[in-house]
Amino acid sequence: MEDCVFCKIIKGEIPSEKVYEDEEILAFKDINPAAPIHILVIPKKHINSLLDLKDEDFILIEKIQKVINNLAKQLKIEDEGFRVIVNCGKDAGQEVMHLHYHLLAGKKLGEKIVG
Ligand code: AMP
Ligand code: ZN
Repeated sequence: MEDCVFCKIIKGEIPSEKVYEDEEILAFKDINPAAPIHILVIPKKHINSLLDLKDEDFILIEKIQKVINNLAKQLKIEDEGFRVIVNCGKDAGQEVMHLHYHLLAGKKLGEKIVG
């Protein structure tokens, strides 16, 4: 998508600190980290939000979760733990309309909203 900041990151038009990349998935550091480890994991295919996933896209969610689990091991945060968040739409405060998973870790994270 032309004006999508994450598509520009994928194309290398905007710099990012990549931590993982393959043909379909990219992971890079969030520019405004909310925790010592704050990584965004995105599909390279432009998908606006969770609600825009088509049947053939759900395989990407599996791949994203595998990337997150591998990163957790690489970054040695399996024991301390981590949080995965996806904001979808206005009430969740989704700012970038390119599906992304936040991976947060490296400190005791703030209050849970659910649970
Ligand atoms: P959300 O509120 O879930 O849409 O999250 C968007 C996230 O993208 C925020 O945490 C921003 O800090 C992050 N972000 C926006 N622009 C960039 C960028 N150029 N590089 C890295 N992260 C970004
Ligand atoms: Zn995009």
